[in-house]
Amino acid sequence: GELPRSEEVQELVTEAYQRYRGTKEGHVADYIPVLAAASPALFGICVVGARGRSFEIGDVDVGFSIQSVSKPFVFALVADAVGSDTARRRLGVNSTGFPFNSLMAIELNDHRTMNPLVNAGAIATTSLVPGTTADEKFEQIRKGLSRFAGRDLRVNEEVYASESSSNMRNQGIAHLLNSYGSLYFDPDEATDVYTRQCSLEVTVHDLAVMAATLANGGVNPQTQERVVVRGVCRRVLAVMATAGLYELSGDWLYEIGVPGKSGVSGGIVTVSPGKGGLATFSPPLDPAGNSVRGQLVTKFLSERLGLNLFASE
Ligand code: GLN
Repeated sequence: GELPRSEEVQELVTEAYQRYRGTKEGHVADYIPVLAAASPALFGICVVGARGRSFEIGDVDVGFSIQSVSKPFVFALVADAVGSDTARRRLGVNSTGFPFNSLMAIELNDHRTMNPLVNAGAIATTSLVPGTTADEKFEQIRKGLSRFAGRDLRVNEEVYASESSSNMRNQGIAHLLNSYGSLYFDPDEATDVYTRQCSLEVTVHDLAVMAATLANGGVNPQTQERVVVRGVCRRVLAVMATAGLYELSGDWLYEIGVPGKSGVSGGIVTVSPGKGGLATFSPPLDPAGNSVRGQLVTKFLSERLGLNLFASE
């Protein structure tokens, strides 16, 4: 089925905004220094249907760094380039049960990554992007994510500099993976490309269009451009279901029933196959690094828009 009629979707989006605007729980991320300056009051919601209808409210034009919400889209580009089977063999597609920056996610799987949506697997995914130099790989990512969004995305240089000065843990993960033969590019350069990827600036509107492209079999419903080949999106949604909200992915599926992906700057995307994409932006996070308001809004809208994939009644 489709989303409900337009007036109803807009009403529900507005209701979700009003309901959760006053929520005060959660803390803005501070392990990347510049993220600590984000206003906890920022709040935006955008829904884009699989046919391109768009509904939004709040801070929908405010730019923020995409962070981990980039991971499913970069995985899509890699699965598109190397094939879904090779991507699975090299990166893994199982749930980890661990926090996003876990080293256990490497040690417990025969020294390979477990899933492209936690840092270890995401850095390995970035290392597989086509290109012989770091700049070529990054440009592939920037152009690919821009096609998902339907506009030219750019790096937020302040975020890139801040995260570059504080990403020793990710460098360590990359070197560990490299020592096991499970990284596919120079570890320092792979980490740098990954850091640039996380610093790409988006709005909540961009994220909803990107999610809607995943909901529409890889064709951007606003530009009509095919971004990835058929068969890729269903695999991306599968890894989102297994690890999109890190160690809370099971709770998320149990409560919300739709694949999602969060990031530490406060974005969450949710994809309802054939129906559309939902994106939220609100910086205060729970202890696992998932936006508090984003989870509340997504639960509310998933129920009211009928998005739960497991519901038969
Ligand atoms: N760039 C961040 C990191 O690697 C992304 C983490 C996130 O959004 N959860 O730590």
